[in-house]
Amino acid sequence: MTAFQTMGPLSVLHAFLNVSRWRVSADKGMSVRPDTINLYVLETGGCEGCAMEVESLCGSAFALEQYGFARVTDPADADWLLVTGPMGRACVQMLERVWNAMPAGKSLVAVGACAVDGGMFGPNYATLGGLKALTPVRRAIPGCPPSPQDILVGLQRLAER
Ligand code: SF4
Repeated sequence: MTAFQTMGPLSVLHAFLNVSRWRVSADKGMSVRPDTINLYVLETGGCEGCAMEVESLCGSAFALEQYGFARVTDPADADWLLVTGPMGRACVQMLERVWNAMPAGKSLVAVGACAVDGGMFGPNYATLGGLKALTPVRRAIPGCPPSPQDILVGLQRLAER
């Protein structure tokens, strides 16, 4: 970038247009896998903060595919199921349908504190209290909410296992 661009009246515009400045970056020590892991995302209630961070990660400003992951909209194409939120009781059937539609070799990943154990919501009349109420949670990305960068690094670490 020239001195004119960094100092002139268009400098703010140039900064916004330079999308790479806003991209999350993967953990520097981690390699990019050649095979893609397909992710299906299921939001199950709560404040939806985690769901928004996942949406940000999957959005066009971030290069999720560059790091070996892709968002899919059909569970039949998914390798991993990413769950956000404290597991609303109304979402249990949906979770079951999605999980059953996924092919063998699938994995369940809790994204955010609520998805693990209900977080600040816990179990109540509307929520079960996270995936823990249904199954042992072996794969999780902590945080309230985890940032897009946290989620990407968490996914990479889980993929390394
Ligand atoms: S973990 Fe935090 S940000 Fe995520 S859904 Fe729960 S309360 Fe919201």
